[in-house]
Amino acid sequence: MIYIISYLLLSLAISIMSLGKRISFVEVFFISMFLTPIVGIIAVLKTKSNILKRHYYMTRTCESCDSVGFENEKVCPKCGDVLELSYHVDSKLNLA
Ligand SMILES: [Zn+2]
Repeated sequence: MIYIISYLLLSLAISIMSLGKRISFVEVFFISMFLTPIVGIIAVLKTKSNILKRHYYMTRTCESCDSVGFENEKVCPKCGDVLELSYHVDSKLNLA
């Protein structure tokens, strides 16, 4: 019984390692369950990280009038104030 529980926990732990990778949690769990956790570890390690998780874009926003400028603009087009650079993570691309 202890063997079965530890086997399941090990399979689950390996499945958690798959998060953020281009292999699904369920896939890794089933691989670990039926083909032993050793095969599960190999599958996770051989799978590349999700290439879309680092997608982000930059904008510059004006503190004086709240207008948004482009990446390459350093001064506000409306009031001429210095724009603040800010980074945004594009959450839409994370699902792809
Ligand atoms: Zn402005």
